[in-house]
Amino acid sequence: MAVISHWINGQIAPTGPDTRLGEVMNPATGIVSGQVALADRATAEAGIRAAAEAFPGWRDTSLARRTAILFAFRELLNARKQELAEIITAEHGKVLSDALGEIARGLEVVEFACGIAGALKGGFSENVSTTVDVHSLRQPLGVAAIISPFNFPAMVPMWFFPVAIAAGNTVVLKPSEKDPSAANWLAALWQEAGLPDGVFNVVHGDKESVDTLLTSPDVASVSFVGSTPIAKYVYETGTAAGKRVQALGGAKNHMLVLPDADLDLAADAAVNAGYGAAGERCMAISVVVAVESIAEELVAKIAERTRTLRVGDGATEPDMGPLVTAAHRDKVAGYIDAGAEAGATVVLDGREDVPADGFFLNPTLFDRVTPEMSIYTDEIFGPVLSVVRVPGYDEGLELINANPYGNGTAIFTNDGGAARRFEREVEVGMVGVNVPIPVPVGYYSFGGWKNSLFGDTHAYGDEGVHFFTRGKVVTSRWLDPSHGGLNLGFPTND
Ligand code: NAD
Repeated sequence: MAVISHWINGQIAPTGPDTRLGEVMNPATGIVSGQVALADRATAEAGIRAAAEAFPGWRDTSLARRTAILFAFRELLNARKQELAEIITAEHGKVLSDALGEIARGLEVVEFACGIAGALKGGFSENVSTTVDVHSLRQPLGVAAIISPFNFPAMVPMWFFPVAIAAGNTVVLKPSEKDPSAANWLAALWQEAGLPDGVFNVVHGDKESVDTLLTSPDVASVSFVGSTPIAKYVYETGTAAGKRVQALGGAKNHMLVLPDADLDLAADAAVNAGYGAAGERCMAISVVVAVESIAEELVAKIAERTRTLRVGDGATEPDMGPLVTAAHRDKVAGYIDAGAEAGATVVLDGREDVPADGFFLNPTLFDRVTPEMSIYTDEIFGPVLSVVRVPGYDEGLELINANPYGNGTAIFTNDGGAARRFEREVEVGMVGVNVPIPVPVGYYSFGGWKNSLFGDTHAYGDEGVHFFTRGKVVTSRWLDPSHGGLNLGFPTND
C-alpha cells in the first residue's frame, strides 16, 4: 500500500518500521487507498530545519526572481489543475467540478502574489528634518507554518503559501491527515517551477507535528484553519511561544431572507450553499432565517429543489459527493435524530435511500428550528440545512448577532436600504447581498469574526502581506558639514 510521506528539502522523506501511519480512504467507496506518515517530533523538526536553512538564501533572492518563480508556478498549476482536482476528489470526496473550483480560488491568491512587488513597496519621506530622510521596509519573518483542514486540501494552503513565499519566507505546511496527497503534489509543482529546495516543505501528521510547529523557536508565524476548539488552542499555544498567529475557526452561517426577496433565487442559493460539497465548507449556509410571512413558500421551494439532487461518487459528477469519513457521516446522521427529538420538523431525512458503499448521506432539511436545539447551536459540517422562522428583519439580525460564530452571512432582499442596514449592523466578517457564499476575491482578505477567527489578521490580500512581513522604519542622515557638534536634546523638527 502506498505511503504518503513528508516532503522535506525537495524530496520525499523515507519512512521506517517505527513510522506511525494513518489510513487515507476514498470516501466514495469506503476503501483504504493509502497510508499517510504521521510525523514524530524529530521529523517535524527536520522539516522546520530545512525551511530555516533555506530562509537566508530565499530572503535575499531578488524580487524579480521570486516573482518569476511565482508566475511559473501559476502557469503549471493552471495547465495541470485537472490532475490535482482528481487527487482531491479521490481523498476528500467532493465533486470534480467543485475540486476545480477550489483550485480556481487558490489560483486567485497565486495571481495576487505574482504582483507582490507592488504590495511590498515602502514609503519615503524626504528631508523630514534638515538632511534627514525616512523610509519604510517590509521584510519577511522567517519560517511560516501553515496547518490546514481536510475540507479544502488545496485552496486553504493556497490562501497562505503564495503570499508567504512571494514575500521571502519559507514554509512548512502541515495538511490534514485525511487528504494529504494534494500537498505533496503542490510541493513537486513548486520544484518544477524552480523554487529552491527547502523553501516549501510538507510535514504530515497530527497533534504531535502541530505541537512541534507551535513551540519550535525556529517557526516565526502560524496560519491555522480548522475547527474552533483547535483554532483557539493553536492561537493560545502559538502566541504564548511568541509567534504571530492567525487561527481561523468554525462557522455557522446564516442567510436572512426578507419578504421582498426573489424567493426562487433565494431557494436556489440556499440549496447550492447548503448542500454544495456536502455542507463541508466553512462558508456553507447552515441556517436559513426566513421571515414568517414567506417561510412556508420558501421551505417548499427549497424542498422541491433538494429532492432533485443526485448524490454519488464525486468523480462521476453528481450534485453532491460523500462525507469525508464514516465517523463524520455517522456524527452528522446523529443530528437528524437530535433535531427530530428536539421538536424540529423533518422536511427531508437524508438517511433515506443512501448509496450502500462509501460515506454517503442525502441532503436533510429541517423547518421550525429554534436557537436552543443542538442542530442550531453546533457546527454540523454536513448536508443539513435548518430553517429558523423569525417575525421580521430585527429578530433575524438579533439571532445572527447572538451567534458565537461570525464567519459568513447573507441577506436576500430587493430592498437596497435593508441590505445597506444589514451590511452595517451584522457582526460577521464576510457578508453577501443576494450572494450566499461571499468568499472575498484574492485581492481582498478572508476572515470571520468572533469564534471564527483568533488573532486579528485575515488571510491573503493586503492583510496576508502584512501578516507575512514585518515593518521597519529607517531614519537616515548623510553627513552635511553644517550639522556637526554636540547636542544632548531630543531631536527637533528643524
Ligand atoms: P480540525 O480542527 O479537526 O483539523 C484542522 C487541522 O488541525 C488538521 O491539520 C489537523 O491535523 C489538526 N488537528 C486536529 N486535532 C488537533 C489537535 N488536537 N491538536 C493539534 N492539531 C490538531 O478541522 P477539520 O475537521 O480538518 O476541518 C473542518 C473544520 O475547519 C470546520 O470546523 C470548518 O468550519 C473549519 N474551517 C474553517 C475555515 C475558515 O475559513 N474559518 C475554512 C475551512 C475549514
